[in-house]
Amino acid sequence: MFLLFGLSPKEQLLVSVAFVCHFCGRNVPQHVIKRSNRFSLFFIPLFSVSTRYFNECSNCGGVTNLTRDQATHAQDWAARHPQH
Ligand SMILES: [Zn+2]
Repeated sequence: MFLLFGLSPKEQLLVSVAFVCHFCGRNVPQHVIKRSNRFSLFFIPLFSVSTRYFNECSNCGGVTNLTRDQATHAQDWAARHPQH
């Protein structure tokens, strides 16, 4: 009898908002991404062990860590400012 368990990372694109990237200085879409590591047993995800939020520039790939509040705020902002 053995146990098969592991961690599986899952990335989810929460929203894209366009603003000036502080790495490359271009006004391009910035992807707000949620990444969670899920503990799984026999390939069945049981619970999330760690979740982090970050912002990734679609031009240069520069990554900025976000708090959960900042990520939520970005989603709220995008919902109130639809982009075409
Ligand atoms: Zn950039």
